[in-house]
Amino acid sequence: MAEALQGADSAQPVADLLESVGVELSDARQHVYLVTFARLLAATLAANPARRDPSGFSREQIGSCLQDAIDNPMADAVGGRPRSNQGGIVVKYVVFRETHQDGSYHFHIAVKLTSSQRFSAFKRTLLQRHGLVSNWSCSHSSFWSAVRYGFVPSEAKPVVDAQCFQWAADGLAWDLFEASQEPFRADSWRQRREKREKKDKQAEAEGKSIGFTKLDLLSLVLSKNLRTKRKLLTYAQNHGTVPMQSFLSKHQRRLPEFIEDALEWESAPAESAVEELTDWDLLCQAADQPCPHGDQCVYKTACDQIFELNAASFSWVSLAVALRSVIVSGPSKTRRVPFLVGSTNSGKSTLLESFDSLFGEVNVFHLPALTDKRFALRNWLRHKRFVFWDEFKPVQFAEAECLPIPQFLKAFNGDLFEIQVPQNAHDGNVDFRWTRGAAFTAKERGLFTPAEFVTAEDIFHIKARVHLFRCSARLPRLRGVPQCRHHLAQWIRAGASIFDAAGGLRPALPALAVEAGVDVGVGGGVQGLAELLRLAAIPEMVARSLGTEILELGAVHIRELSVQDWCELAAWGGLRPLQQRRLLASLQT
Ligand SMILES: [Zn+2]
Repeated sequence: MAEALQGADSAQPVADLLESVGVELSDARQHVYLVTFARLLAATLAANPARRDPSGFSREQIGSCLQDAIDNPMADAVGGRPRSNQGGIVVKYVVFRETHQDGSYHFHIAVKLTSSQRFSAFKRTLLQRHGLVSNWSCSHSSFWSAVRYGFVPSEAKPVVDAQCFQWAADGLAWDLFEASQEPFRADSWRQRREKREKKDKQAEAEGKSIGFTKLDLLSLVLSKNLRTKRKLLTYAQNHGTVPMQSFLSKHQRRLPEFIEDALEWESAPAESAVEELTDWDLLCQAADQPCPHGDQCVYKTACDQIFELNAASFSWVSLAVALRSVIVSGPSKTRRVPFLVGSTNSGKSTLLESFDSLFGEVNVFHLPALTDKRFALRNWLRHKRFVFWDEFKPVQFAEAECLPIPQFLKAFNGDLFEIQVPQNAHDGNVDFRWTRGAAFTAKERGLFTPAEFVTAEDIFHIKARVHLFRCSARLPRLRGVPQCRHHLAQWIRAGASIFDAAGGLRPALPALAVEAGVDVGVGGGVQGLAELLRLAAIPEMVARSLGTEILELGAVHIRELSVQDWCELAAWGGLRPLQQRRLLASLQT
């Protein structure tokens, strides 16, 4: 090839050109190449009439020859066209044309492929099918650096092609300036700083200050895995340079914050890809992926056990449906927040804490501290996907003024509510609306007992925002069940599809009587119940469930039940708001 690539005017410029683009290694396999089409010597052209001088091509033409050679390479030197790659493997390319003094020119193309490929067949195809001699530089392993070669002026090449031709398989425009920037890599940033500091030793000796920036710190944290303040300080004392030590000592109190920033910086690319997905998409994706614990998933076994033992008090299908509704559209009057209540070791937290693993711990808004009175909710504003309040006692939170009743009612009804934030960051209050998933758990004892500032009516309204699921059965050995996003996602999706298949739109009822095979008739066995339910025009399905539950409480007369007892019935959640109101009104008469 060397002889074919002789320059038209003198051999030297072409040799220089090829040296500057980087060497061609015959057995390289890369997904990025910088391809050069140099001018041909008049004598070469005369001796090989099939060859064409690139000067006769436009940027577009030379680009499409390259694309053709890559997407439909010749199988062998003889030259038939083999099957074409489905859809092609060229992701994008940019053609730069550089002009010589005599008006002729050569081309550079930075090209990115979907996978690593050897270039020999492409090169042969270019020569035999298009008559073009090409050089495949293998010294750019990343697309940005190949683009940079043609796009960014340098000392050796002060003038660059201002009218280069860009192409992308997805048809979208792409930004050359962006494409020519080196993506951040903690390692290389740290090494760059180390090099610079070595060079600046002299300056340092002369007492000049040498910068150690926050980005330097961030790269150090990530590349040396110094993710705690202690580790960072120890490293700086043992291995740090003077500028690093003085930066750390100056900002010592803020280091935990800087470390947090570093972790956010690191996870941003992955997070932003996931950000595009809806919460339900993300859940379905996790359901489709294999379980990280293989076929020995302790979480799955625990779920099966919890659902089976609690089958008498709630159906896992209705819990799945309730979770789906709230995840897809956020809470409202009809999409109430699933609230799992029960004693310790009933498995209620075990069932739901895998939301941390599904959405990522930082994306779940956990229960704020009761002591954090004024700004308890401020972290809710930080791009959360889910609210999971484990051991949440709404009455206690209202009493502590962490979450006053009106705020609770608005927040879990999809209404705007105010979140108080520190004055120094903002003017004090931020309007906020929660339109994503939520779930609570709590011990049942005393959960809905009125308190000094929380009346029975408040409690009635709180209950209208939640959908109670009672985990009454105690489970042995529940400590340390590892979270599993896959199996969590799977039972929610499976339950929801069972519900859909069964005819969907009826409200998700804890179908007690139906499941247990008990038919006591509407209100049979409890005096006054049948009439009450009839007066309040409660649909028969729900009436049946209410009847069974009240009977199970051991009641013989309807007057034995307090308003609170009514609200705590699992089937109460199956009533529409107006049905609840009618029923309560009938109770008072
Ligand atoms: Zn699993």
